[in-house]
Amino acid sequence: MDGWLCRSRIKLHKIILTELQKQLLSNYAENEKPNESCAILFGTRKTGIIKVEKVFLTKNIEQSPTSFTISAEQRLEADKMERDMNLEIIGIFHSHPDSKTYPSSTDEKFMELNPVVWIIFSGVSKDLRAYILESELLEIPIEIE
Ligand SMILES: [Zn+2]
Repeated sequence: MDGWLCRSRIKLHKIILTELQKQLLSNYAENEKPNESCAILFGTRKTGIIKVEKVFLTKNIEQSPTSFTISAEQRLEADKMERDMNLEIIGIFHSHPDSKTYPSSTDEKFMELNPVVWIIFSGVSKDLRAYILESELLEIPIEIE
């Protein structure tokens, strides 16, 4: 199987973030304005519940308010971190400085290539939401602990 989550047939029903992780991601997104920000999320998955254990804040090399790209170097670094920490890359985070959290059509294309949970922050509503693309686009509830 290609994708990380394709290995699992168990439906995801929530993703758990700590308050600190939520603040870290929200603050990062606000600080990177007017550009989109991005991060790679590591964690564990058990019976449909994903728990984020580590956030890797990455650079948006596009420096764009409407798109993001993580450098090949940082993606390699993330692969190495995944092995070293014995955690899975369970999600990708990015922000929409001027729009709602809902994935754009470009996001959907990349979600197909990277079938992990996508967490999106809206600089407008200051809201954080999680999505996954299976046969259709689904929103996964986020629980803050
Ligand atoms: Zn987007």
